[in-house]
Amino acid sequence: MQFSTLLDALPQQVWKADAQGRLLWMNARLAEALNRPALPSPLVNWLHADDREAFSHCWALAQASGRFEMEYRLGQHWVLAQAQRLPDSPHWLGTHIDISARRMAEARLQQADDVWKLALECSGDGVWDWHVQRGTEHFSERYLRLHGFQPGDLDATPAAFDARTHPDDVPQMNRDREDHFAGRTAIYRNEHRVLAKDGTWKWVLSRGMVIERDAQGQPVRMVGTHTDITDRKRQEALVWQQARLDALTGLPNRRALRERIERALAQRAVRQEELAVMFVDLDHFKEVNDSLGHDVGDALLVQVALRLQACMPAGDAASGVVARMGGDEFTVLLAAPDAAAAAERIGQQLLDAVSAAFAVGGERVYVSASIGVSLAPRDGVEIEALFKHADQALYEAKGAGRNRMRLFTPALHEAAQRRARLAAELREALPARQFSLVYQPILSLREPASPPRKAEALLRWTHPKLGEVSPAQFIPLAEASGLIVDIGDWVFREAAAQVKAWRAAGHEGFQVSVNKSPVQFFNERSQRLQPDWVAHLRELGLPGHALAVEITEGLLLERDEAVAERLRSLREAGLSISLDDFGTGYSSLSYLQHHDIDTVKIDRSFVAGLEAGGKALALCRAIVTMAHELGMQVVAEGIETEAQMRALQAMGCDWGQGWWFGKGVSAEAFEERWLSGAVQGTVTGTAR
Ligand code: C2E
Ligand code: MG
Ligand code: MG
Repeated sequence: MQFSTLLDALPQQVWKADAQGRLLWMNARLAEALNRPALPSPLVNWLHADDREAFSHCWALAQASGRFEMEYRLGQHWVLAQAQRLPDSPHWLGTHIDISARRMAEARLQQADDVWKLALECSGDGVWDWHVQRGTEHFSERYLRLHGFQPGDLDATPAAFDARTHPDDVPQMNRDREDHFAGRTAIYRNEHRVLAKDGTWKWVLSRGMVIERDAQGQPVRMVGTHTDITDRKRQEALVWQQARLDALTGLPNRRALRERIERALAQRAVRQEELAVMFVDLDHFKEVNDSLGHDVGDALLVQVALRLQACMPAGDAASGVVARMGGDEFTVLLAAPDAAAAAERIGQQLLDAVSAAFAVGGERVYVSASIGVSLAPRDGVEIEALFKHADQALYEAKGAGRNRMRLFTPALHEAAQRRARLAAELREALPARQFSLVYQPILSLREPASPPRKAEALLRWTHPKLGEVSPAQFIPLAEASGLIVDIGDWVFREAAAQVKAWRAAGHEGFQVSVNKSPVQFFNERSQRLQPDWVAHLRELGLPGHALAVEITEGLLLERDEAVAERLRSLREAGLSISLDDFGTGYSSLSYLQHHDIDTVKIDRSFVAGLEAGGKALALCRAIVTMAHELGMQVVAEGIETEAQMRALQAMGCDWGQGWWFGKGVSAEAFEERWLSGAVQGTVTGTAR
């Protein structure tokens, strides 16, 4: 009995039952809880009605193993029942431990779960609840509807849903999941596509969190949401696309092209392909744009884009894409086993396509293109090198007279380097006094034997190592760097001083013309400098017409009020304005009248063709006639033969300049050759 007193003192309920589960004995704690029942009494009768069936099942199973364990409700309490068959006896000894507190906590947790699920559902998101180790997943109704399913439509396992994830998105999803499982991210976040019931792909943003881990830290349970981001993704795709498309032509833009080239470069070796990067630049597009207006220019660009695109190879031996880099610059990327051959072939097609007439805005417009090509891997395997080399080849194509294609060669690279060196050395030329002027006489064709009253000042650069460098070489460099502004200013002052000296020496009315680059008109500093020219003449006590300014047609086509204004102010100060190289550009004579041009200078190329007669002769005659009608004078440039001179005289051309009379020479030589003794009014000797 001592033993049963001991059992009575235990905090657990202790009981003894027979094989049928009838209570034979119980300690005081259990007796109290059950209100001291008469024994024997079946244990099952004391259980909550909902737990009785499970108990009977469990008890029957226990008969084989000799062990029993179950959680059930007894009166107001949840208990953990554990029992064992006594050795050498049909009876069982069991205990009850009160687990009500734990059970309550769990119930609260479940309730909380339901509450947050509800909350998340209300946010419009679908909710998932994944028991990672068990491999089961609960999906909320909204989650299912998000993907077009009804509850019960789909096997609710993670595998079934993973199988509906877009294959391209699976690797990243797994990586994000692993990162979160391993604790590297506080919140799991992944965007992927899910196959909806109707067969379309839906973009979802999946966010979640592991909310339970086992003792080893492995995830047990993870919950999260799915948000439908299909619309946002569609917007993004649109923005992405727009950021890579040229708005005017719809072609890929510079950025898209770079991406394509990067990709093509990366795949080149694998595909055993070579690449050609072709810079396609329209010739004289600016003139078209300026003379016919920007709308026509735009329409032309759209048509050019279509024609270029039509030249792209369609077979699988080669592939090509056209992009617009901006302005009138296009780039073609070709991929082919022999890129040089492909570029030659396609390049010729491109040139032909562009040079055929365009009909835009009711006008027939002709343009041409110049193309520079670099090849990978031959000329480089990096985008910058390929661009640089294609650009150098393009420069060469333009320089060789446009409407042609050039492939990059190492010699081109050297030429570009030489140019770069020369451009650097050009900076030193002015302070180092390496510039000088030569003067070429401009003679009256009516009295070619009379001493000249005009001369053109031409710039010469004596390079310390290279000797004489042609202006055709260094003027473009000076323009590109802006140095032309300072150089041009020096030329002007030098020429002004010279004309003053000659006038003072008795050659009154003498005029020197200087060439003024368009860059000088645009450059901001030259805006400030220009009134200086006028002021400078005044300081020297020279009238404006002592100097003439030679400009090129390109400048006039610039529909720029500021340029027109600057030209006007020169004219108002009395300077003459000559239009140089007339006939090589795009302007008509009547157009020149708006700009108050005094003199046109017929380009050398027309004069050179005079002897052959025909077209050049007719052209020169037309220029002279029309210029006179419009009150302008005409200078013929580049007269090299007597026949040319006579032809020009015959058509009434006013002035002549060229080697037939004399080349440009230093001021001293000019004085000696042309002006000494001329004060009296005659030139001696032949006009050579
Ligand atoms: P440009 O203004 O048309 O000058 C006439 C060019 O033709 C000069 O070449 C002259 O030497 C050359 N020339 C004259 N008569 C004949 C001839 O009978 N036959 C041939 N074949 N050529 C002849 P240059 O001096 O080499 O100058 C080339 C160009 O450089 C000039 O063409 C002008 O555009 C530019 N330039 C020269 N000096 C200056 C300058 O001070 N400032 C600016 N901005 N440009 C200049
Ligand atoms: Mg000139
Ligand atoms: Mg000229």
